[in-house]
Parts: sequence; structure tokens; C-alpha cells
Amino acid sequence: MKFDCDFVVAGSGAGGSAVAARLADGGARVLLAEAGPRARPQEDAARAINLYYANAGLTAGLGNGLFALATGRTVGGTTTINSGTCLRPPSDAPRRWAAAVPGFDADAFSADVEDAWRTLKVAKTPERLAGESTRLFFQGLERLGVRGAEYLDRAAPGCDGAGRCCFVCPRGAKVTAQTAFLEPSLRDGRLDLRAGWRLLSAAASEDPGRPAEAVLVDETGRRRRLRARAVILACGSLATPYHLRRLGVRAGDGLTIHPAAKVFALFDREVRGWSGVPQAGGLQDEAEPRLRFEGAFVPPEIAPLTMPLEGRRLTWWLERYAHVASFGFMVRDCASGRVRYPLGPEMPLIRYAMAPQDVRLMARGMELVARAYLAAGASRVLLPLNRLDNEFESAAQLDAFNWSGVRADELQTMGFHPLGTAGLGRATDGGLRAAPGVYVADGSVVPESLGVNPQITIYAFALGLARRLLAEGA
Ligand SMILES: Cc1cc2nc3c(=O)[nH]c(=O)nc-3n(C[C@H](O)[C@H](O)[C@H](O)COP(=O)(O)OP(=O)(O)OC[C@H]3O[C@@H](n4cnc5c(N)ncnc54)[C@H](O)[C@@H]3O)c2cc1C
Ligand code: SF4
Repeated sequence: MKFDCDFVVAGSGAGGSAVAARLADGGARVLLAEAGPRARPQEDAARAINLYYANAGLTAGLGNGLFALATGRTVGGTTTINSGTCLRPPSDAPRRWAAAVPGFDADAFSADVEDAWRTLKVAKTPERLAGESTRLFFQGLERLGVRGAEYLDRAAPGCDGAGRCCFVCPRGAKVTAQTAFLEPSLRDGRLDLRAGWRLLSAAASEDPGRPAEAVLVDETGRRRRLRARAVILACGSLATPYHLRRLGVRAGDGLTIHPAAKVFALFDREVRGWSGVPQAGGLQDEAEPRLRFEGAFVPPEIAPLTMPLEGRRLTWWLERYAHVASFGFMVRDCASGRVRYPLGPEMPLIRYAMAPQDVRLMARGMELVARAYLAAGASRVLLPLNRLDNEFESAAQLDAFNWSGVRADELQTMGFHPLGTAGLGRATDGGLRAAPGVYVADGSVVPESLGVNPQITIYAFALGLARRLLAEGA
């Protein structure tokens, strides 16, 4: 039987790069197809979004509100435009998953988490690199008597705090799927990376020993049909289910997103929130463990898109942007949604309705950030609510606000972590196999909302898959 290569991997994000590079390092012939281009740092964050975010950053979901979902479309996938923060999955998760899914090995997965941690050279962010937004939030928490704030672990050993992690790091300091996994394998000529190549469809092997098939379109628009020992889908949680559904696999349900938002605060003095590491610090809510706070600051050129304001009030805030701080929060969601493709794979239709208990946590999140910034001396705060009375000047005004009246449809919500649409044990088995000769290695296999930033978890799933496939082929 003739094979064009051993493995075709579609998608070069966290999962795709890790599995492709490790397979190639193990001696397999791997073609890695990435639909997006290679990324270069851009002066203008809006241009980076336009070039390297899926659908130019306009992917949105609809349910009991409208929310934006950001993912990358470039070599390195979303890791090229992420914040670089690294957190291990919840410590009880691997055992729970192993108990529910035959063939999933909790100990091996935990070892893969540590492998990812080492490979990404994760280290604590030095305090000196934190931006003023973070320092002011921490100061406010201290004045409120809230403990637990910490500088976060990140994968960015040479970071000098240029503050543009989500728009392609201009220093090349952030460790991405590309720098950690692809570049070493490419340097040694072990891996065949094709940027601008898009998977059109995958076909399972009909019998054991027969190849699986991938149909791809290359950068010139020419179709290529490749036969391989296996096709590995790593197109991300919003795209992989399209290919699985075409194979008859029930995928696309179970979407979790970590609903997130941020609060802006205005200070009398300059903050210059764009300098320093934007996501240097964080806090896990002690009373509500499903709520997590993490730094978030966007450069001035895209600030208008992220402030729940318009007209003169927006102009007023933008004129003072050098004095503005902001901090974000996200919820380990109870709700789940789904993704379907009535208009094809490029325009996923995403349905997701926030659960009432998650809306309550969003309200709690914005209240704590607002109180902390006011305690740190802010003259006013701006809540992520699409309503006119979303600015507050004192703790007394926050006391008088009806927090339990916050509605999902008025929240200015974003999701940065779509997960779960081909969940382990649902669309894939314990070995991440979805059909004969077809595997999944991206965020879609994460079977539940994690509550922490997911890249380490996704890398670990992918490393485990590479290890098993190499062992099977030996
Ligand atoms: C702004 C932002 C900040 C974030 N910050 C953090 C953080 O600090 N820490 C953290 O842990 N996580 C963070 N994340 C999330 C994290 O980066 C992602 O969860 C992770 O990269 C997802 O990995 P993946 O393999 O599932 O898919 P992705 O990394 O999204 O990669 C999928 C790739 O597949 C490609 N693709 C899609 N369709 C096809 C096709 N048909 N053919 C070929 N290629 C295709 C896409 O172009 C893309 O490059 C952040 C996300 C965002 C948006
Ligand atoms: S803070 Fe700057 S230097 Fe550091 S990783 Fe982010 S963009 Fe790169």
C-alpha cells in the first residue's frame, strides 16, 4: 500500500504543532498544513487582528447575548496571538477524565503536562515587567483586604514587556507553538510545514492497514489528495467539528468558552497601561473558585472596539487613554453551546447561552475589579455593560447598584478559550481517535470547562497522542 506520508496534520496551533513536531522528531514523515500565513509583528494591533485572527477577529456567537470569540489563523495558531500565560489543568481533572473514559491514562497525561511546561520554558513573570494596570489592581486588592493576587507563570523567557503579546510579540520573546515545536523540527529538516494549505476534507481508512485520506487546497488553489497512515485534525475547537461531522462523527456540541470581560478605570495620573506585560498578574477568587481574574490591556488603536461606549463618551475616554487601567476576569462556565456549519467551515454558526449562575459570577467579577480600582484611587470605573449607566465614581455608587439585576444580553462578553466540541469520551475515544485513521489534537478534545487558560492542557493532549502513535508504529 502506497502512503504519501505517515501523517497529515491539519492546523499548526498548540495541538497541531506539538503532535506534528513530536511525530517528525520520532522519525515519521509528517505534512503539517496550516490554513493561515506566517505571522510578522505589526505596528498596528488592528492590522495584526486583520491578518492573523480568524475572520479578522469578527467570529461571534449568539445566544442570550452576542459575544466575540477570538482565535488565531496563522502559523502557530492562537498561540501566536495569545498572552503567553501558562497554567496547569485543575489537579483533579486527569483522574476524573480517566475514570469516565476507558483508555485515557491520567498519569501519562500528567507527565505530558510537565513535558509541555518544560518545553515552553515556563517561568514566573518578574514583578518589574508588570504593567501599571496590574500594579494598581493589586494595590486596590490589598486595600480591600483581598489576598491571593500573584504574578503569573508565562512562556516568555526573553520578555521585556513590550506589551503586544496578542498581536504577535515584536521581540520574538513569547514561546509559541511555532518557536517551541515547529522551529527546531524545521531546522533539522524533519517536518514538512505548508503555510496557506487548507484541509478540505478527511476520509477514514476503510480497513486496518489501508490509508486515511486528506484533501487539501494549496496556496495556489490547487487541490492535493494525500494518503497517510492517519490524518490528525488540529484546526481548533471551532473548525475541527466540521471535518468530523462530514465523517459522520457527532461533534460540535459541548462548546465551553470561559466567558470573559474587563473593567476600565480612570486615574488622575498617567498609567500608560500598554507598557509592561499585559497579563502579568492574576487572582483566583477564594469564595467563588469558578471565577478567575487576569490582567488585560489593549493598545489605544483597538480600544474603541473594546469599550462599551459610543459617541462623545467614547471620545472622552479615548482622549484620556494614557490615564486608563484595565483588568479582566473569566468564568469556568456551567453552560455549553454548539457549533454548526450551514454556511461552510469558514463561517461557523455558534450558539451559546450563558447560564444564570455564570452571569452572576460575571457581575461579581466586574464588581471586585471596580472596587479594587476605586480603592487604588481611580476617579471612575467603566463596567462591561452595554447600557448608559455603566460608569461609577465611588464605592457608595457601587453599593447602590443592583448586581443581581445584571442580564446576559447586556454583558460585553468575549470568549478566548473555545473548547470541548469533540470532547474526549464523546466524539473521540480515550486515545483521541474519532474514526479509523482519524485523530483529534486540539482544544476540541478538552472535555469540560477548565477554569484556567488552556494552552498547557492542549499541548499535553497532543504530546500524548504523538507518543502513542509512535509507539503503535514501532
Ligand atoms: C487573545 C487570546 C489570548 C490567549 N491567551 C492565552 C494564554 O495566555 N494562555 C493560554 O493558555 N491560552 C491562551 N489563549 C488560548 C490558547 O492560545 C488556545 O486555546 C490554543 O492555542 C488553542 O489551540 P488549538 O490547537 O486548539 O487551536 P489553535 O491554536 O487555534 O490552532 C488551530 C489552527 O488551525 C488552523 N486551521 C483551521 N482550519 C484549518 C484547515 N481547514 N486546514 C488547515 N489549518 C486550519 C487555524 O488557522 C489555526 O492556526 C488565548 C487566546 C486568545 C484568542
Ligand atoms: S510582553 Fe511583550 S516582549 Fe513580552 S511576550 Fe508579550 S509582546 Fe513579547
